[in-house]
Amino acid sequence: MSGTKRAHVIGGSLGGLLAAHLLRAAGWDAVVFERNEEELASRGVGLGTHPQLIAILKRAGVDFDESMGITPPRGVCLDGSGKIIIEQPMARTLSGWARLYGALRDALPADSYRLGKRLTRVTQDADSVTAMFADGGSERGDLLIGADGVRSAVRAQYLPHVEPVYAGYVAWRAVLDEAQVPRELWREVVELYAFCLPEGEQCISYAVPGRDNDTAVGRRAYNIVWYHPTDRDTLIDICTDAEGRHHAAGIPPLLIRPDVIARIKADAKALLAPQIATIFVRTAPFFQPIYDLVSPRLVFGRAVLAGDAAFVARPHAGAGTTKAALDAACLADSIRDAGDLDSGLLRYERIQQPFGQAIVELNRQEGLYLSAQIKAKTARTAAELHRDIGAVLHAHIARSDQIGDIVAAHGLTGHV
Ligand SMILES: Cc1cc2nc3c(=O)[nH]c(=O)nc-3n(C[C@H](O)[C@H](O)[C@H](O)COP(=O)(O)OP(=O)(O)OC[C@H]3O[C@@H](n4cnc5c(N)ncnc54)[C@H](O)[C@@H]3O)c2cc1C
Repeated sequence: MSGTKRAHVIGGSLGGLLAAHLLRAAGWDAVVFERNEEELASRGVGLGTHPQLIAILKRAGVDFDESMGITPPRGVCLDGSGKIIIEQPMARTLSGWARLYGALRDALPADSYRLGKRLTRVTQDADSVTAMFADGGSERGDLLIGADGVRSAVRAQYLPHVEPVYAGYVAWRAVLDEAQVPRELWREVVELYAFCLPEGEQCISYAVPGRDNDTAVGRRAYNIVWYHPTDRDTLIDICTDAEGRHHAAGIPPLLIRPDVIARIKADAKALLAPQIATIFVRTAPFFQPIYDLVSPRLVFGRAVLAGDAAFVARPHAGAGTTKAALDAACLADSIRDAGDLDSGLLRYERIQQPFGQAIVELNRQEGLYLSAQIKAKTARTAAELHRDIGAVLHAHIARSDQIGDIVAAHGLTGHV
């Protein structure tokens, strides 16, 4: 291809930023359009990493050094009394969404990241694609990447019948500055990757970089992700604010009703290990409903889907950002290596569609037990009624390696 081609990336989160960086490295002029009016840096909590994500961040110009993540030496499972019942070495590096966002955002020229630009529609002709925005503006380019997340406007236009499927549970998320964690709990849980697995629940907690992206002891933050079965009626109730408005696409954390927060804190005290409950009740927790989403196609002329807009995997293996990074790398490399844009995009779809599907399935397997909890007991299988805690913990830890196996099986190793 000759001349500088222009790519418009819709969505300025991690997937969009990675796509913009890698396309720029391949010689494109890539500009990001984000609907939010303000920088997203205050968003996000803990985020699991994989070696593939770290390698692709490097390609995007971000060196993932020791200041970017924390690697607890051991995984432990705590029972309801707080006793360690399983202990096993593990090496998973946990970072923070804001830490990665800041590094990728800072490395992009200021005029290549536009805030307050909500895409409403895409139009195409034989050799261009135009993004239309809610503010009345439009941008014409050679390629449009829909990296606009689970409720993607780009996907809604091209695949209107493909919608996220609710998995039957939510993830309650809580973060507390380490300085506010009672000191006696530092060695006991903050230094570890801790599981609580009460019947029908899954709670994982670990330290992440703190407020100023600090990984020094005492300045980190403690991150809790608690997968909690929640039937549809209850989901509607907890997504309804104090004014009676229902937020179907997810309720903003500040609008969660006080009675909902009080109830989950009471549940935490009743269900979780006391160390974790002690931390949880000191936070302002919020929740995210868990979904599965598989797009059967990723390319629509000159518009393509990437990241969570294309596939949403349950977060158990923490693979969402790694998958978004692999989408970005495969897209940029396929376009660079192909003789023409159409063949490059088709190659991208041929590789990333089955890959995305495999990542969704891997994570769905881990969450099947949680999904089953909203079924009547008589409708559950023996495995759904009782599970082996050791097997859950070992399978969870093994899933990180399985990401590498899936990457290799889909021929993606060369993009890392
Ligand atoms: C509970 C939970 C825990 C998670 N934990 C992890 C983890 O540990 N590790 C991990 O790798 N991943 C994790 N994820 C997933 C991760 O957050 C995403 O998969 C990853 O960041 C890739 O997202 P994305 O950039 O494709 O989409 P998103 O992060 O959803 O970003 C989409 C962006 O598009 C913007 N946008 C939307 N519509 C428009 C529009 N019309 N016009 C312009 N802009 C628009 C949005 O404002 C947003 O900034 C977790 C997810 C959940 C729910």
